[in-house]
Amino acid sequence: MTTTTDTATAFPLAFTTTPSQAARDQAERDAILASPGFGKHFTDHMVQITWTLDDGWHDAAVVPYGPISLDPAASVLHYAQEIFEGLKAYRHADGSIWTFRPEANGLRLQRSARRLALPELSVVDFLESLRQLIAVDGAWVPSAPETSLYLRPFMYASESFLGVRAAQKVDYRVIASPAGAYFHGGVEPVSIWLSTDYTRAGRGGLGAAKTGGNYAASLLPQAEAYQHGCAQVLFLDSEEGKYLEELGGMNLFLVRHDGTLITPSLRGTILEGITRESVIQLAKDRGHAVEERPVAVDEWRDGVASGEITEVFACGTAAVITPIGELKSPDFSIGDPGRGAGEFTMSLRQELTDIQYGRRPDRHGWLHRLG
Ligand SMILES: *Cc1c(COP(=O)(O)O)cnc(C)c1O
Repeated sequence: MTTTTDTATAFPLAFTTTPSQAARDQAERDAILASPGFGKHFTDHMVQITWTLDDGWHDAAVVPYGPISLDPAASVLHYAQEIFEGLKAYRHADGSIWTFRPEANGLRLQRSARRLALPELSVVDFLESLRQLIAVDGAWVPSAPETSLYLRPFMYASESFLGVRAAQKVDYRVIASPAGAYFHGGVEPVSIWLSTDYTRAGRGGLGAAKTGGNYAASLLPQAEAYQHGCAQVLFLDSEEGKYLEELGGMNLFLVRHDGTLITPSLRGTILEGITRESVIQLAKDRGHAVEERPVAVDEWRDGVASGEITEVFACGTAAVITPIGELKSPDFSIGDPGRGAGEFTMSLRQELTDIQYGRRPDRHGWLHRLG
């Protein structure tokens, strides 16, 4: 085993690779890639890097995919000291494999780490971890339209210690899961449920960190959304219950009739989506105004009633851009689920996916080659 200490220089950690003895053959892989779904199947390998207070990041390795052994006292199991990232590897027409703005994911993982009192992994090592996994599992990147290999880096407190303090042993891993086209048979607007009883994040809390606890908090309201026939839940601010925040795992945009995009400003309770930032950039490039500010739910309701708000969509890596047809709440509903997806929404979606799949010039230098 090679061991290198992270010196936070431009040199990534040196990785060792242990090939899986249980790797699927091409026929098995093709059968999975023909209908991958989302988050159900995993590639043959995973990345692991360990951090200890004494030695920093070390033991970087690509190893066979498999169960993780954890001591029952591992602090992540008790205090949820955990963060993650999500990005995709896309296969271009020439067979090459690319990912989208991974430096932004690496920087966000660092910000999440700071908030959760976890150690920061350098962006260089983050990028190298993705490259190393693709080097062995690149064949798992599907090539059918709108498919990808979803990459899930994550980090958790693995120290066995029940005292409440930041762990002194932490593990970083990357697993990968082939993902099918999110929408089968065309992009359809979804209905979303407005949660009035629950919020996702409070002032000074974890809202801006990509951490499992935020998702745990969203599961009950998400179940409520399903009960009301809605695909996702929308949260309002925790202080006044008036302002739009985001969905459980996607950021929100309203489109005004004059083409202006309106999105809730980041104020510590909203996750800074990379898709959100990219949508803002693409809209500005086209000459559209973009307003980042507090947006009251009443503005949505009144705007739809008056015709001022013409389209609403949510965005995030997994589904890219999802048109929202209707907002339902216990007291009212806004919009019309039967109305088709908005034109601006769909053209932004097309432009973004064209860039990601190499069908259109990458004028912002957003793509990063992985293989
Ligand atoms: C990951 C995530 C998003 C979307 O971020 P992208 O970088 O666009 O994928 C939005 N909200 C929450 C809560 C998230 O965890």
